[in-house]
Amino acid sequence: MLIYNLTYEELVEFLSKNGHKKFRADQIWNWLYKQKVATFREMTNLPEELLVLLEETYKIQALELVLKHTSTDGTIKALYSLHDGHLIESVLMQHHYGNSICVTTQVGCNIGCSFCASGLLKKKRDLTAGEIIAQIIETERILKERIAYVVVMGIGEPFDNYEQLMRFLTTVNHPKGLEIGARHITVSTSGIVPKIKEYAHMGLQVNLAISLHAPNNEIRTKLMKINQRYPVEEVIGAIKYYLSVANRRVTIEYILIDGINDMPEVAEELSRVLRGLNVYVNLIPYNEVLEAPYKRSASQTMNTFYDILSKNKIQVTLRKEQGHDINAACGQLRSQHL
Ligand code: SAH
Ligand code: SF4
Repeated sequence: MLIYNLTYEELVEFLSKNGHKKFRADQIWNWLYKQKVATFREMTNLPEELLVLLEETYKIQALELVLKHTSTDGTIKALYSLHDGHLIESVLMQHHYGNSICVTTQVGCNIGCSFCASGLLKKKRDLTAGEIIAQIIETERILKERIAYVVVMGIGEPFDNYEQLMRFLTTVNHPKGLEIGARHITVSTSGIVPKIKEYAHMGLQVNLAISLHAPNNEIRTKLMKINQRYPVEEVIGAIKYYLSVANRRVTIEYILIDGINDMPEVAEELSRVLRGLNVYVNLIPYNEVLEAPYKRSASQTMNTFYDILSKNKIQVTLRKEQGHDINAACGQLRSQHL
């Protein structure tokens, strides 16, 4: 098993069961998450007996770099192979305020949104928490710099892999772990209503983003078949629930697709649906996908959509994209190798 899968408490328990002191857990986590060593042998302050036990029980190496592409704007796409040969991708974005990584949570995605390249791949399996953590550590090795922001927006639906997601968040945020501030982490979901409600009670300061993409069921069902299970009114209900319990602003993701969800009357309807909620809307220019029939909205249309929300006092931003030239932008995490 991958050692990154263990919570701090589980490592302490493993050590005590095997006759080792608790402080060894601190030493091991320091090597794993602060020094970021690639082998147990580099943990030079551990007794030989413990090193042998760790080597026999756990693995550190989770990912093998298959390909690395660097975009003209500095965005790096890393294609990694998992131990069973499945391929996943992580995208590293370099901003003036720090480095940010977009991680994958599943091999493929079963939600199957009609606009999304990842959704065209049926889910092969969930990633373990350790495999998600390893994406950050491996990518830091490539970059030789610290990553300060994490977005869980790569391939997969994080709330369809809930338990591993929670483990991942715990270790990433842990003071003895990667120690990335909860407010620097964002989890994006397609709107799995019961999980949004459960998540509200976790007491996490992690940001939540909801992929809404339409203000009504007619449009949303066309784009996201999950809308038949969790329609717009239920998703909005779950957002209200989350806001009342967690009291943290929610991000609404909204891809702009030509002639589908970008008309002025749709912007007015979206404003009505979101009025009075503590949310902000992130408008995302659609990245065209070969297999999908959709086109990106004209930039004039996007600006008009933005202006209508703004006029209606809805907080809104128009996302600046990165990595477009290497197919690494959101929703394009799909390699010719898959
Ligand atoms: N499954 C989760 C997280 C991964 S998708 C979710 O759907 O929220 C991350 C974001 O990228 C989502 O908002 C998704 O709708 C968006 N996305 C998917 N395909 C896209 C595309 N072709 N162009 C732009 N954004 C896309
Ligand atoms: Fe899955 Fe998200 Fe893509 Fe929909 S947009 S298919 S939920 S990864």
